[in-house]
Amino acid sequence: MPISAKYYLILDIGTTTVKAFAYSEDGKILKKVLKTTNVLFPEPGYVEQDPEKLWQITYDAATEIINEYGKPNAMGITNQRASTIVWDKETGEPLYNMITWQDTRASDIAKKYTKVFLLKVGRAFGKIANGLSKIIPGSRKSKRLNYLVTMAFFKFGPNQPIMHLRWLMDNVDEVSKAAKDGKLAFGTIDSWIIWKMLSIHVTDYTNASATGLFDPFFLKWSDRLTKIVCIPKRILPKLIDNMGELGKVKIFKNAPLTAVIADQQSSLYSAGGFNSGTIKITNGTGTFIDINVGKIPMPGRYGTYPMVAIKWRSKVNYLLEGIVQTTGSAVDWLISIGILSDPSEASKLAESVKDSDDVIFIPALAGVGTPYWNPKVKGLILGLTRGTRREHIVKALLDGIAIRCAEVLSIIEKASGIKISHVITDGNASRNDYLLQAIADFSNKQIRRVENLEGTSRGAFLLAKGALNQLDIEKAWSEPTYDKIIDPGKREPKEWQHVFNLMLRYHQ
Ligand code: ADP
Repeated sequence: MPISAKYYLILDIGTTTVKAFAYSEDGKILKKVLKTTNVLFPEPGYVEQDPEKLWQITYDAATEIINEYGKPNAMGITNQRASTIVWDKETGEPLYNMITWQDTRASDIAKKYTKVFLLKVGRAFGKIANGLSKIIPGSRKSKRLNYLVTMAFFKFGPNQPIMHLRWLMDNVDEVSKAAKDGKLAFGTIDSWIIWKMLSIHVTDYTNASATGLFDPFFLKWSDRLTKIVCIPKRILPKLIDNMGELGKVKIFKNAPLTAVIADQQSSLYSAGGFNSGTIKITNGTGTFIDINVGKIPMPGRYGTYPMVAIKWRSKVNYLLEGIVQTTGSAVDWLISIGILSDPSEASKLAESVKDSDDVIFIPALAGVGTPYWNPKVKGLILGLTRGTRREHIVKALLDGIAIRCAEVLSIIEKASGIKISHVITDGNASRNDYLLQAIADFSNKQIRRVENLEGTSRGAFLLAKGALNQLDIEKAWSEPTYDKIIDPGKREPKEWQHVFNLMLRYHQ
Protein backbone atom coordinates (compact mmCIF):
# COMPACT_ATOMS: atom_id res chain seq x y z
CA MET A 1 0.00 0.00 0.00
CA PRO A 2 1.53 3.37 -1.03
CA ILE A 3 2.02 5.71 1.90
CA SER A 4 3.05 8.67 -0.25
CA ALA A 5 2.23 11.53 2.05
CA LYS A 6 1.64 14.24 -0.51
CA TYR A 7 -1.21 13.98 -2.94
CA TYR A 8 -4.35 15.82 -4.03
CA LEU A 9 -7.79 14.25 -4.19
CA ILE A 10 -9.76 15.46 -7.21
CA LEU A 11 -13.39 14.52 -7.79
CA ASP A 12 -14.73 14.74 -11.34
CA ILE A 13 -18.49 14.25 -11.22
CA GLY A 14 -19.78 13.67 -14.76
CA THR A 15 -23.16 12.74 -16.17
CA THR A 16 -22.57 9.02 -16.52
CA THR A 17 -19.48 8.53 -14.36
CA VAL A 18 -17.86 9.79 -11.17
CA LYS A 19 -14.07 9.75 -11.23
CA ALA A 20 -11.83 10.21 -8.19
CA PHE A 21 -8.14 10.92 -8.78
CA ALA A 22 -5.05 10.93 -6.62
CA TYR A 23 -2.67 13.50 -8.13
CA SER A 24 0.97 13.64 -7.07
CA GLU A 25 2.56 16.99 -6.19
CA ASP A 26 4.10 17.13 -9.70
CA GLY A 27 0.81 16.47 -11.48
CA LYS A 28 0.97 12.73 -12.18
CA ILE A 29 -2.16 10.62 -11.79
CA LEU A 30 -1.30 8.05 -9.10
CA LYS A 31 -4.70 6.40 -9.08
CA LYS A 32 -8.08 6.78 -10.75
CA VAL A 33 -11.30 5.27 -9.41
CA LEU A 34 -14.25 5.25 -11.79
CA LYS A 35 -17.86 4.61 -10.77
CA THR A 36 -21.00 4.65 -12.88
CA THR A 37 -23.85 6.95 -11.91
CA ASN A 38 -27.45 5.86 -11.79
CA VAL A 39 -29.37 7.75 -14.48
CA LEU A 40 -33.18 7.43 -14.32
CA PHE A 41 -35.70 7.91 -17.17
CA PRO A 42 -39.07 7.98 -15.34
CA GLU A 43 -40.99 9.41 -18.33
CA PRO A 44 -40.17 10.36 -21.93
CA GLY A 45 -37.99 13.49 -21.83
CA TYR A 46 -37.34 13.15 -18.08
CA VAL A 47 -33.72 12.43 -17.09
CA GLU A 48 -33.06 12.32 -13.34
CA GLN A 49 -30.62 11.06 -10.71
CA ASP A 50 -31.08 10.40 -7.02
CA PRO A 51 -28.95 13.10 -5.27
CA GLU A 52 -28.29 10.90 -2.21
CA LYS A 53 -27.07 8.07 -4.45
CA LEU A 54 -24.86 10.47 -6.40
CA TRP A 55 -23.33 11.64 -3.14
CA GLN A 56 -22.87 8.02 -1.99
CA ILE A 57 -21.05 7.12 -5.24
CA THR A 58 -18.84 10.22 -4.89
CA TYR A 59 -18.13 9.39 -1.25
CA ASP A 60 -17.25 5.77 -2.10
CA ALA A 61 -14.89 6.82 -4.91
CA ALA A 62 -13.13 9.35 -2.64
CA THR A 63 -12.92 6.86 0.22
CA GLU A 64 -11.23 4.26 -2.01
CA ILE A 65 -8.46 6.77 -2.71
CA ILE A 66 -8.15 7.89 0.93
CA ASN A 67 -8.02 4.30 2.18
CA GLU A 68 -4.97 3.76 0.00
CA TYR A 69 -3.19 7.09 0.22
CA GLY A 70 -4.26 8.59 3.55
CA LYS A 71 -5.09 12.26 4.11
CA PRO A 72 -4.94 14.40 0.95
CA ASN A 73 -2.99 17.67 0.92
CA ALA A 74 -6.08 19.34 -0.48
CA MET A 75 -9.20 18.47 -2.46
CA GLY A 76 -10.82 19.84 -5.60
CA ILE A 77 -14.22 19.34 -7.24
CA THR A 78 -15.11 19.58 -10.91
CA ASN A 79 -18.51 18.62 -12.25
CA GLN A 80 -21.01 18.46 -15.12
CA ARG A 81 -22.99 21.66 -15.28
CA ALA A 82 -26.60 22.74 -15.20
CA SER A 83 -28.22 19.90 -13.26
CA THR A 84 -30.76 21.04 -10.67
CA ILE A 85 -30.98 19.85 -7.07
CA VAL A 86 -33.35 21.23 -4.42
CA TRP A 87 -33.18 20.41 -0.74
CA ASP A 88 -34.49 21.49 2.66
CA LYS A 89 -31.87 23.59 4.44
CA GLU A 90 -33.11 22.48 7.88
CA THR A 91 -33.23 18.73 7.33
CA GLY A 92 -30.62 18.57 4.56
CA GLU A 93 -32.97 16.23 2.64
CA PRO A 94 -33.46 16.48 -1.15
CA LEU A 95 -37.05 17.45 -2.06
CA TYR A 96 -36.98 15.87 -5.51
CA ASN A 97 -34.62 13.88 -7.72
CA MET A 98 -31.85 15.84 -9.45
CA ILE A 99 -33.16 17.04 -12.82
CA THR A 100 -30.22 16.68 -15.20
CA TRP A 101 -29.25 19.04 -18.02
CA GLN A 102 -30.48 16.45 -20.57
CA ASP A 103 -34.06 16.67 -19.26
CA THR A 104 -36.49 18.44 -21.63
CA ARG A 105 -39.67 18.56 -19.49
CA ALA A 106 -39.45 22.35 -19.31
CA SER A 107 -39.64 22.95 -23.10
CA ASP A 108 -43.03 24.69 -22.97
CA ILE A 109 -42.08 26.71 -19.90
CA ALA A 110 -38.95 27.90 -21.71
CA LYS A 111 -40.99 29.02 -24.74
CA LYS A 112 -43.49 30.83 -22.51
CA TYR A 113 -40.87 32.76 -20.54
CA THR A 114 -38.83 33.61 -23.64
CA LYS A 115 -41.94 35.38 -24.96
CA VAL A 116 -42.42 37.21 -21.63
CA PHE A 117 -38.76 38.20 -21.64
CA LEU A 118 -38.98 39.57 -25.16
CA LEU A 119 -42.14 41.51 -24.34
CA LYS A 120 -40.53 43.07 -21.30
CA VAL A 121 -37.11 43.80 -22.66
CA GLY A 122 -37.72 44.08 -26.38
CA ARG A 123 -35.25 42.97 -28.96
CA ALA A 124 -35.03 46.19 -30.87
CA PHE A 125 -32.14 47.74 -28.92
CA GLY A 126 -30.22 44.52 -29.00
CA LYS A 127 -30.68 44.11 -32.74
CA ILE A 128 -29.39 47.64 -33.36
CA ALA A 129 -26.45 46.97 -31.06
CA ASN A 130 -25.72 43.75 -32.92
CA GLY A 131 -25.68 45.59 -36.23
CA LEU A 132 -23.38 48.26 -34.81
CA SER A 133 -21.03 45.70 -33.29
CA LYS A 134 -20.47 44.21 -36.75
CA ILE A 135 -19.43 47.47 -38.34
CA ILE A 136 -17.62 49.38 -35.59
CA PRO A 137 -14.01 48.16 -35.33
CA GLY A 138 -13.04 47.01 -31.82
CA SER A 139 -16.66 47.13 -30.61
CA ARG A 140 -16.49 43.48 -29.55
CA LYS A 141 -14.43 44.78 -26.64
CA SER A 142 -17.25 47.03 -25.43
CA LYS A 143 -18.94 45.57 -22.38
CA ARG A 144 -22.07 47.72 -22.81
CA LEU A 145 -22.55 46.82 -26.48
CA ASN A 146 -21.97 43.14 -25.77
CA TYR A 147 -24.61 43.31 -23.05
CA LEU A 148 -27.17 44.69 -25.50
CA VAL A 149 -26.28 42.14 -28.16
CA THR A 150 -26.66 39.38 -25.56
CA MET A 151 -30.19 40.64 -24.93
CA ALA A 152 -30.92 40.37 -28.65
CA PHE A 153 -29.88 36.73 -28.70
CA PHE A 154 -31.38 35.79 -25.36
CA LYS A 155 -33.63 32.72 -25.08
CA PHE A 156 -34.54 30.50 -22.14
CA GLY A 157 -33.49 26.91 -22.85
CA PRO A 158 -35.39 23.79 -21.70
CA ASN A 159 -32.14 22.45 -20.24
CA GLN A 160 -31.43 25.36 -17.94
CA PRO A 161 -31.77 25.08 -14.15
CA ILE A 162 -33.84 28.30 -14.10
CA MET A 163 -36.54 26.49 -16.12
CA HIS A 164 -36.25 23.26 -14.12
CA LEU A 165 -36.56 25.29 -10.95
CA ARG A 166 -39.74 26.94 -12.26
CA TRP A 167 -41.11 23.47 -13.13
CA LEU A 168 -40.33 22.23 -9.60
CA MET A 169 -42.02 25.25 -7.98
CA ASP A 170 -45.12 24.70 -10.12
CA ASN A 171 -45.37 20.93 -9.83
CA VAL A 172 -43.90 19.74 -6.53
CA ASP A 173 -45.78 20.94 -3.43
CA GLU A 174 -42.88 20.26 -1.05
CA VAL A 175 -40.66 22.54 -3.14
CA SER A 176 -43.06 25.50 -3.29
CA LYS A 177 -43.86 25.08 0.41
CA ALA A 178 -40.18 25.01 1.40
CA ALA A 179 -39.63 28.15 -0.71
CA LYS A 180 -42.48 29.92 1.11
CA ASP A 181 -41.13 28.81 4.50
CA GLY A 182 -37.65 30.09 3.63
CA LYS A 183 -36.16 26.58 3.87
CA LEU A 184 -35.51 25.85 0.20
CA ALA A 185 -31.97 25.54 -1.13
CA PHE A 186 -31.23 25.28 -4.86
CA GLY A 187 -27.90 24.15 -6.21
CA THR A 188 -26.04 22.47 -9.05
CA ILE A 189 -23.91 19.37 -8.40
CA ASP A 190 -21.00 21.34 -6.93
CA SER A 191 -23.35 23.03 -4.40
CA TRP A 192 -24.87 19.72 -3.38
CA ILE A 193 -21.55 17.93 -2.93
CA ILE A 194 -20.09 20.88 -0.97
CA TRP A 195 -23.24 20.97 1.16
CA LYS A 196 -22.72 17.28 1.98
CA MET A 197 -19.07 17.88 2.82
CA LEU A 198 -19.21 21.20 4.68
CA SER A 199 -22.90 22.11 5.23
CA ILE A 200 -22.48 25.44 3.45
CA HIS A 201 -24.68 26.64 0.59
CA VAL A 202 -22.39 27.93 -2.18
CA THR A 203 -21.67 27.60 -5.88
CA ASP A 204 -18.81 28.88 -7.99
CA TYR A 205 -19.08 31.43 -10.80
CA THR A 206 -18.46 28.93 -13.62
CA ASN A 207 -21.28 26.64 -12.50
CA ALA A 208 -23.55 29.62 -11.82
CA SER A 209 -23.02 30.95 -15.32
CA ALA A 210 -24.61 27.80 -16.82
CA THR A 211 -27.85 28.05 -14.80
CA GLY A 212 -29.67 30.77 -16.75
CA LEU A 213 -30.03 32.64 -13.44
CA PHE A 214 -26.72 34.46 -13.60
CA ASP A 215 -25.71 37.84 -15.00
CA PRO A 216 -22.17 37.52 -16.37
CA PHE A 217 -21.88 41.26 -16.99
CA PHE A 218 -22.34 42.18 -13.33
CA LEU A 219 -21.16 38.85 -11.88
CA LYS A 220 -24.21 38.28 -9.71
CA TRP A 221 -27.56 36.48 -9.76
CA SER A 222 -29.63 38.31 -12.34
CA ASP A 223 -32.31 40.66 -10.96
CA ARG A 224 -34.08 40.74 -14.30
CA LEU A 225 -34.21 36.99 -14.97
CA THR A 226 -35.12 35.93 -11.43
CA LYS A 227 -37.90 38.53 -11.44
CA ILE A 228 -39.34 37.45 -14.80
CA VAL A 229 -39.39 33.77 -13.81
CA CYS A 230 -40.38 34.52 -10.17
CA ILE A 231 -37.48 32.74 -8.50
CA PRO A 232 -36.83 34.06 -4.96
CA LYS A 233 -33.18 35.02 -4.70
CA ARG A 234 -32.87 33.72 -1.14
CA ILE A 235 -32.95 30.10 -2.39
CA LEU A 236 -29.82 30.66 -4.50
CA PRO A 237 -26.35 29.74 -3.23
CA LYS A 238 -23.63 32.25 -2.38
CA LEU A 239 -21.17 32.78 -5.24
CA ILE A 240 -17.54 31.81 -4.67
CA ASP A 241 -14.23 31.88 -6.57
CA ASN A 242 -12.70 28.84 -8.25
CA MET A 243 -9.67 28.80 -6.00
CA GLY A 244 -9.44 29.29 -2.22
CA GLU A 245 -10.08 27.30 0.95
CA LEU A 246 -13.74 26.61 1.68
CA GLY A 247 -13.23 24.60 4.84
CA LYS A 248 -11.82 21.34 6.17
CA VAL A 249 -13.78 18.22 5.30
CA LYS A 250 -14.20 16.20 8.47
CA ILE A 251 -15.35 12.98 6.75
CA PHE A 252 -12.24 13.07 4.54
CA LYS A 253 -9.65 13.28 7.33
CA ASN A 254 -10.06 17.05 7.66
CA ALA A 255 -8.51 17.69 4.25
CA PRO A 256 -9.08 21.27 3.02
CA LEU A 257 -11.39 21.76 0.03
CA THR A 258 -9.58 24.38 -2.06
CA ALA A 259 -10.97 24.28 -5.62
CA VAL A 260 -14.34 24.03 -7.32
CA ILE A 261 -14.93 24.56 -11.03
CA ALA A 262 -17.29 23.35 -13.77
CA ASP A 263 -15.92 20.56 -15.98
CA GLN A 264 -15.36 22.33 -19.33
CA GLN A 265 -13.97 25.41 -17.60
CA SER A 266 -11.58 23.17 -15.69
CA SER A 267 -10.25 21.55 -18.83
CA LEU A 268 -9.95 24.99 -20.52
CA TYR A 269 -7.92 26.23 -17.55
CA SER A 270 -5.73 23.13 -17.74
CA ALA A 271 -5.12 23.81 -21.45
CA GLY A 272 -4.35 27.51 -21.29
CA GLY A 273 -4.61 28.94 -17.78
CA PHE A 274 -5.60 32.58 -17.74
CA ASN A 275 -4.56 33.21 -21.36
CA SER A 276 -7.22 34.58 -23.66
CA GLY A 277 -7.31 33.03 -27.12
CA THR A 278 -6.74 29.50 -25.79
CA ILE A 279 -9.07 27.02 -27.45
CA LYS A 280 -9.58 23.41 -26.48
CA ILE A 281 -11.59 20.46 -27.69
CA THR A 282 -12.64 17.86 -25.13
CA ASN A 283 -13.63 14.66 -26.92
CA GLY A 284 -15.53 12.49 -24.44
CA THR A 285 -19.02 11.04 -24.72
CA GLY A 286 -19.78 14.34 -26.49
CA THR A 287 -17.42 17.06 -27.71
CA PHE A 288 -17.11 20.44 -26.00
CA ILE A 289 -15.18 23.18 -27.76
CA ASP A 290 -14.32 26.21 -25.63
CA ILE A 291 -12.40 29.40 -26.31
CA ASN A 292 -11.14 31.78 -23.64
CA VAL A 293 -12.25 35.20 -24.93
CA GLY A 294 -10.60 37.29 -22.21
CA LYS A 295 -11.87 39.83 -19.71
CA ILE A 296 -15.14 40.92 -21.35
CA PRO A 297 -18.10 38.57 -21.77
CA MET A 298 -19.20 38.08 -25.37
CA PRO A 299 -22.69 37.43 -26.62
CA GLY A 300 -23.44 33.90 -27.72
CA ARG A 301 -23.76 34.49 -31.44
CA TYR A 302 -24.43 31.64 -33.90
CA GLY A 303 -25.55 29.19 -31.25
CA THR A 304 -22.47 29.47 -29.05
CA TYR A 305 -22.95 29.78 -25.31
CA PRO A 306 -21.18 32.47 -23.24
CA MET A 307 -19.99 31.67 -19.70
CA VAL A 308 -17.46 32.62 -17.04
CA ALA A 309 -14.23 30.71 -17.81
CA ILE A 310 -12.60 31.32 -14.46
CA LYS A 311 -12.78 33.76 -11.56
CA TRP A 312 -10.39 34.45 -8.76
CA ARG A 313 -10.59 37.66 -6.74
CA SER A 314 -10.79 40.56 -9.24
CA LYS A 315 -9.51 38.43 -12.13
CA VAL A 316 -12.14 37.05 -14.49
CA ASN A 317 -12.01 35.43 -17.91
CA TYR A 318 -14.96 34.51 -20.09
CA LEU A 319 -15.48 31.82 -22.70
CA LEU A 320 -17.66 30.88 -25.64
CA GLU A 321 -18.65 27.25 -26.04
CA GLY A 322 -19.83 25.10 -28.93
CA ILE A 323 -21.03 21.50 -28.67
CA VAL A 324 -21.07 18.39 -30.87
CA GLN A 325 -23.49 16.11 -29.05
CA THR A 326 -22.35 12.60 -29.94
CA THR A 327 -18.70 11.63 -30.18
CA GLY A 328 -17.68 8.78 -27.83
CA SER A 329 -21.35 7.92 -27.41
CA ALA A 330 -21.60 7.22 -31.17
CA VAL A 331 -18.57 4.92 -30.83
CA ASP A 332 -20.33 3.27 -27.86
CA TRP A 333 -23.39 2.82 -30.06
CA LEU A 334 -21.28 0.99 -32.68
CA ILE A 335 -20.11 -1.28 -29.86
CA SER A 336 -23.68 -1.86 -28.66
CA ILE A 337 -24.78 -3.08 -32.11
CA GLY A 338 -21.71 -5.28 -32.53
CA ILE A 339 -19.79 -3.32 -35.21
CA LEU A 340 -16.93 -2.63 -32.80
CA SER A 341 -15.84 -4.59 -29.76
CA ASP A 342 -13.86 -1.82 -28.05
CA PRO A 343 -13.36 1.96 -28.57
CA SER A 344 -9.63 1.41 -29.07
CA GLU A 345 -10.37 -0.55 -32.29
CA ALA A 346 -11.95 2.43 -34.04
CA SER A 347 -8.82 4.30 -35.11
CA LYS A 348 -7.01 1.27 -36.55
CA LEU A 349 -10.08 0.12 -38.48
CA ALA A 350 -10.58 3.58 -39.97
CA GLU A 351 -6.93 3.77 -41.00
CA SER A 352 -7.04 0.31 -42.60
CA VAL A 353 -9.13 1.50 -45.58
CA LYS A 354 -8.18 4.31 -47.94
CA ASP A 355 -11.63 5.93 -47.82
CA SER A 356 -15.16 5.24 -46.60
CA ASP A 357 -16.18 3.84 -50.03
CA ASP A 358 -18.76 6.64 -50.35
CA VAL A 359 -20.46 5.78 -47.06
CA ILE A 360 -21.67 8.95 -45.31
CA PHE A 361 -22.46 8.93 -41.60
CA ILE A 362 -24.33 11.86 -40.00
CA PRO A 363 -23.56 11.32 -36.30
CA ALA A 364 -26.64 13.18 -34.98
CA LEU A 365 -27.67 10.38 -32.61
CA ALA A 366 -28.97 12.88 -30.03
CA GLY A 367 -29.93 15.81 -32.22
CA VAL A 368 -27.49 18.48 -33.40
CA GLY A 369 -25.90 21.16 -31.23
CA THR A 370 -24.03 24.31 -32.28
CA PRO A 371 -25.12 26.21 -34.34
CA TYR A 372 -28.47 24.52 -35.14
CA TRP A 373 -29.65 23.32 -31.73
CA ASN A 374 -32.23 20.98 -33.17
CA PRO A 375 -33.00 17.97 -30.95
CA LYS A 376 -35.21 16.43 -33.66
CA VAL A 377 -32.44 15.78 -36.20
CA LYS A 378 -31.56 12.09 -36.36
CA GLY A 379 -28.48 10.17 -37.41
CA LEU A 380 -28.07 8.69 -40.86
CA ILE A 381 -25.87 6.14 -42.63
CA LEU A 382 -26.02 6.50 -46.40
CA GLY A 383 -24.36 4.85 -49.40
CA LEU A 384 -24.35 1.20 -48.30
CA THR A 385 -23.54 -1.49 -50.90
CA ARG A 386 -22.77 -5.22 -50.77
CA GLY A 387 -19.12 -4.17 -50.65
CA THR A 388 -19.51 -2.03 -47.51
CA ARG A 389 -17.38 -3.28 -44.63
CA ARG A 390 -17.46 -2.25 -41.00
CA GLU A 391 -14.19 -0.39 -41.58
CA HIS A 392 -16.01 1.94 -43.99
CA ILE A 393 -18.79 2.61 -41.49
CA VAL A 394 -16.31 3.35 -38.69
CA LYS A 395 -14.28 5.65 -40.94
CA ALA A 396 -17.46 7.44 -42.09
CA LEU A 397 -18.51 7.97 -38.47
CA LEU A 398 -15.16 9.44 -37.41
CA ASP A 399 -15.16 11.67 -40.50
CA GLY A 400 -18.68 12.82 -39.66
CA ILE A 401 -17.69 13.76 -36.10
CA ALA A 402 -14.59 15.55 -37.38
CA ILE A 403 -16.58 17.54 -39.95
CA ARG A 404 -18.97 18.72 -37.24
CA CYS A 405 -16.01 19.66 -34.98
CA ALA A 406 -14.49 21.66 -37.84
CA GLU A 407 -17.80 23.42 -38.40
CA VAL A 408 -18.07 24.37 -34.71
CA LEU A 409 -14.45 25.60 -34.71
CA SER A 410 -15.17 27.93 -37.61
CA ILE A 411 -18.32 29.18 -35.88
CA ILE A 412 -16.41 29.88 -32.69
CA GLU A 413 -13.84 31.78 -34.73
CA LYS A 414 -16.64 33.87 -36.27
CA ALA A 415 -18.46 34.45 -32.97
CA SER A 416 -15.35 35.43 -31.01
CA GLY A 417 -13.50 37.28 -33.75
CA ILE A 418 -10.37 35.42 -32.61
CA LYS A 419 -8.21 33.76 -35.26
CA ILE A 420 -7.42 30.22 -34.17
CA SER A 421 -3.98 28.87 -35.05
CA HIS A 422 -3.93 25.67 -33.04
CA VAL A 423 -6.27 23.70 -30.82
CA ILE A 424 -5.47 21.77 -27.65
CA THR A 425 -7.32 18.50 -27.23
CA ASP A 426 -8.11 16.18 -24.32
CA GLY A 427 -10.83 13.72 -23.26
CA ASN A 428 -10.61 9.97 -23.70
CA ALA A 429 -11.99 9.89 -27.25
CA SER A 430 -8.89 11.96 -28.17
CA ARG A 431 -6.97 8.68 -27.92
CA ASN A 432 -8.28 8.15 -31.42
CA ASP A 433 -5.43 9.23 -33.75
CA TYR A 434 -7.58 9.00 -36.85
CA LEU A 435 -10.26 11.27 -35.37
CA LEU A 436 -7.70 13.94 -34.43
CA GLN A 437 -6.08 13.85 -37.87
CA ALA A 438 -9.52 14.18 -39.46
CA ILE A 439 -10.37 17.19 -37.24
CA ALA A 440 -7.05 18.78 -38.23
CA ASP A 441 -7.68 18.07 -41.92
CA PHE A 442 -11.26 19.36 -42.08
CA SER A 443 -10.58 22.44 -39.93
CA ASN A 444 -7.15 23.14 -41.39
CA LYS A 445 -5.79 23.75 -37.87
CA GLN A 446 -2.97 22.18 -35.93
CA ILE A 447 -4.15 19.88 -33.14
CA ARG A 448 -2.06 19.43 -30.00
CA ARG A 449 -2.97 16.40 -27.93
CA VAL A 450 -2.07 16.63 -24.24
CA GLU A 451 -0.43 13.73 -22.45
CA ASN A 452 -2.95 13.71 -19.59
CA LEU A 453 -6.25 13.28 -21.39
CA GLU A 454 -8.14 13.83 -18.12
CA GLY A 455 -7.71 17.60 -18.53
CA THR A 456 -10.89 18.22 -16.56
CA SER A 457 -9.40 16.79 -13.40
CA ARG A 458 -6.00 18.41 -14.10
CA GLY A 459 -7.54 21.91 -14.07
CA ALA A 460 -9.09 21.32 -10.64
CA PHE A 461 -5.81 19.81 -9.44
CA LEU A 462 -3.82 22.91 -10.48
CA LEU A 463 -6.32 25.14 -8.67
CA ALA A 464 -6.42 22.98 -5.52
CA LYS A 465 -2.63 22.97 -5.34
CA GLY A 466 -2.40 26.69 -6.21
CA ALA A 467 -4.76 27.60 -3.36
CA LEU A 468 -2.80 25.53 -0.88
CA ASN A 469 0.42 27.26 -1.90
CA GLN A 470 -1.31 30.68 -1.93
CA LEU A 471 -0.44 31.29 -5.56
CA ASP A 472 -1.93 33.81 -7.94
CA ILE A 473 -4.34 32.27 -10.52
CA GLU A 474 -1.73 32.82 -13.26
CA LYS A 475 1.08 31.20 -11.27
CA ALA A 476 -1.08 28.24 -10.27
CA TRP A 477 -1.18 27.13 -13.91
CA SER A 478 1.48 25.14 -15.69
CA GLU A 479 1.45 24.29 -19.36
CA PRO A 480 0.36 20.74 -20.09
CA THR A 481 2.80 18.41 -21.82
CA TYR A 482 1.83 17.32 -25.31
CA ASP A 483 2.09 13.79 -26.55
CA LYS A 484 1.34 14.49 -30.21
CA ILE A 485 1.25 17.48 -32.54
CA ILE A 486 -0.90 16.88 -35.62
CA ASP A 487 -0.53 19.12 -38.65
CA PRO A 488 -3.44 19.49 -41.03
CA GLY A 489 -3.69 18.12 -44.55
CA LYS A 490 -6.57 19.68 -46.44
CA ARG A 491 -9.90 17.87 -46.94
CA GLU A 492 -13.31 19.19 -48.01
CA PRO A 493 -16.56 17.58 -46.83
CA LYS A 494 -18.48 18.20 -50.07
CA GLU A 495 -21.07 15.42 -50.42
CA TRP A 496 -21.33 15.08 -46.67
CA GLN A 497 -22.37 18.69 -46.33
CA HIS A 498 -25.03 18.26 -48.98
CA VAL A 499 -26.57 15.26 -47.18
CA PHE A 500 -26.35 17.02 -43.80
CA ASN A 501 -28.19 20.06 -45.18
CA LEU A 502 -30.95 17.77 -46.47
CA MET A 503 -31.25 16.17 -43.01
CA LEU A 504 -31.52 19.58 -41.38
CA ARG A 505 -34.27 20.61 -43.78
CA TYR A 506 -36.08 17.29 -43.35
CA HIS A 507 -36.21 17.73 -39.57
CA GLN A 508 -37.07 21.42 -39.50
P1 ADP B 1 -16.73 11.70 -20.29
O1 ADP B 1 -15.83 12.50 -19.41
O2 ADP B 1 -17.64 12.48 -21.19
O3 ADP B 1 -17.43 10.58 -19.59
P2 ADP B 1 -14.29 10.42 -21.31
O4 ADP B 1 -13.31 11.51 -21.56
O5 ADP B 1 -14.05 9.53 -20.14
O6 ADP B 1 -15.78 10.99 -21.35
O7 ADP B 1 -14.38 9.53 -22.65
C1 ADP B 1 -15.21 8.41 -22.72
C2 ADP B 1 -15.71 8.23 -24.14
O8 ADP B 1 -14.58 8.13 -25.01
C3 ADP B 1 -16.51 6.93 -24.33
O9 ADP B 1 -17.70 7.24 -25.02
C4 ADP B 1 -15.58 6.04 -25.17
O10 ADP B 1 -16.28 5.21 -26.07
C5 ADP B 1 -14.77 7.08 -25.92
N1 ADP B 1 -13.45 6.56 -26.34
C6 ADP B 1 -12.46 6.10 -25.55
N2 ADP B 1 -11.40 5.70 -26.29
C7 ADP B 1 -11.72 5.95 -27.58
C8 ADP B 1 -11.06 5.78 -28.83
N3 ADP B 1 -9.83 5.27 -28.90
N4 ADP B 1 -11.71 6.15 -29.96
C9 ADP B 1 -12.95 6.69 -29.89
N5 ADP B 1 -13.63 6.86 -28.76
C10 ADP B 1 -13.04 6.50 -27.62
